[in-house]
Amino acid sequence: MHTHKLRAASWLLASTAICSSPSWANTQHEAHVHGQVELNIAQDGNDLLLEITAPASDVLGFEHAPKTEAEQQALNTALQQLNQAASLFSLPAEARCSLQDNHVTHTLPSHSDDEHEDHDEHEHEHEHEHEHEDHHGHAEFSVQSVYRCEQIQQLGQLTLNWFSYFPATENIQVQAISDKGQTAATLKAAQPLFRF
Ligand SMILES: [Zn+2]
Repeated sequence: MHTHKLRAASWLLASTAICSSPSWANTQHEAHVHGQVELNIAQDGNDLLLEITAPASDVLGFEHAPKTEAEQQALNTALQQLNQAASLFSLPAEARCSLQDNHVTHTLPSHSDDEHEDHDEHEHEHEHEHEHEDHHGHAEFSVQSVYRCEQIQQLGQLTLNWFSYFPATENIQVQAISDKGQTAATLKAAQPLFRF
C-alpha cells in the first residue's frame, strides 16, 4: 500500500535533516530535553505522516515504570489521549484528511526491570531509587499518525493541540517535508499553528 512510500518519506526526512542540521542530528543520539517535543511531518502524494516524539516527563511527569496506582492511572490516561490523533492535531477541513493509522509507543522501563527494587521497601532506599532511575536514563513517547487527504493541496497548515493536553511542554520543534519543500519551525502554546 502506501506504507512503503511513507517509510521512504520518513527516511528521507531523517536523512536530509541530519545532513542539513548538525544540531538536529545530535538530538537523535543524545538525551532529550524536558519540555521539548519533536514533530516530523512527511507528505507524499495524498499521504501525510505525522510523527511526534516527546519526553515521558512531558507526558506523565516521570520517566520510570509506574510504581503507584496514580502513576499507572496517569499512564493509562496519557495512552488514551495519544491514541486520539484527531484531538492532537487540527487539520484544515477542506483538505479532507482521514486518519488511516495511529500508533503509540513508549520506552518506559517495564515492571520486571525494576523487580529487584520492589523488594526494597525500606524508607532509606529512596535515595538509591533515584540513582537507579538515572541509570535507566530517559524515556520517550512516540506517536505516528498516518492520514490520507483527498485535497492535500488545501492542507498548508496544521494546529497542534498538544499544549492543552501536556502543559509541561514548552516548545515543539517541527520539521516538514512536502511537495513544497522543507520547512521548520518552533511552536509554543501561544502559537501552535504550523504552516508548510
Ligand atoms: Zn527525560
